[in-house]
Amino acid sequence: MQAESTALIARAAQTHQLTEQELVQLLGDAAATEPLAAAADRVRHAYVGDGVHLRGLIEFSNICRQNCMYCGLRRDNSRVERYRLEAEAIVELARKAKGYGYRTVVLQSGEDVYFTVPRLCAIIRAIKQLDLAVTLSLGERPREEYAAWRAAGADRYLLRIETTDRALYEQYDPGMSWANRDRCLRDLRELGYEVGTGTLVGLPGQTLSMLAKDILYYQALDADMLGIGPLIPNADTPLGTAQAGDFDLTRRMVSLLRLLLPEANIPATTAMETMRPRGREIILASGANVVMPNVTEGDYRRKYALYPGKICVADTPADCRACMGGRIKAMGRYVATDKGFRKHQNLKEQTAL
Ligand code: SAH
Ligand code: SF4
Repeated sequence: MQAESTALIARAAQTHQLTEQELVQLLGDAAATEPLAAAADRVRHAYVGDGVHLRGLIEFSNICRQNCMYCGLRRDNSRVERYRLEAEAIVELARKAKGYGYRTVVLQSGEDVYFTVPRLCAIIRAIKQLDLAVTLSLGERPREEYAAWRAAGADRYLLRIETTDRALYEQYDPGMSWANRDRCLRDLRELGYEVGTGTLVGLPGQTLSMLAKDILYYQALDADMLGIGPLIPNADTPLGTAQAGDFDLTRRMVSLLRLLLPEANIPATTAMETMRPRGREIILASGANVVMPNVTEGDYRRKYALYPGKICVADTPADCRACMGGRIKAMGRYVATDKGFRKHQNLKEQTAL
């Protein structure tokens, strides 16, 4: 490891501050991967503890009006078989998720405008009656719609900024504007959602300085949750022949996020495990504290094809719950039983670090 990296890691673990230049140094130092992970694991333990929060992911529609150049759900992809679950089926999956012990469900989809304010409000209300936390991840909508869903009981919203570099964002998300995505995140924050965002690592043309700026943007936004995943090229998209995102660079980014946003909820994303067996354990040991097992049933899992090689498409929700529970215990951690809201704790005593 480069000498300056050692000092930077020690300082970041204490002060939770780094400059853009310092972040670039650590992101670019491959030999810093393990020491960064170890420091992030200690900070994770001190701030959010050993509980791993499981969120049950319901992929309720793969219909999308957008055309992101990396994503298999993009509207121009005619190879994907489209589906949309009806309200009763979505609520039934949430009920089953509760039966497996989940305390949160994440409703994720393409940008499918069939799900209007009244339709989604009814679904949110029905799920809230089950005493579950509800996370939405359905893309960009006007502030009034976010407000109506919040009023219906939605607790959290996930919307990755993907990259904070405007030009890069608008190159790969044609027809979308970076300013509007940023507006969505600020509206969600003001409306009282717990806000989750994150980076797609490995977009062609993305630099270490852009990734460093992403981290500083998340700090400025005071993001509650950060989902970071590598690009996995999808042959049915214009980025089909791009290089995959780098696993260890993504891992260093996760660790740096834990050091700079110590209270945040950080998932070990499915994309990491698609790239490498046991990828989620590796990330859980590098600063992460959340896993989002799939609770979608049957063939819909396969059809929700953001990228190829998605893991566990033949498994049932019960398999996924049992598998993750066992793996978490084997790491000496435990499955948290609370709803997993962000803990604001401002730890002053950090002697344990
Ligand atoms: N439509 C919503 C939610 C579904 S997409 C939205 O876009 O916010 C969820 C995430 O999948 C995206 O934010 C993107 O970062 C990720 N994704 C899409 N295609 C991918 C690919 N080929 N490799 C890795 N992640 C991908
Ligand atoms: Fe649609 Fe989201 Fe995929 Fe973009 S990333 S094409 S918005 S599902």
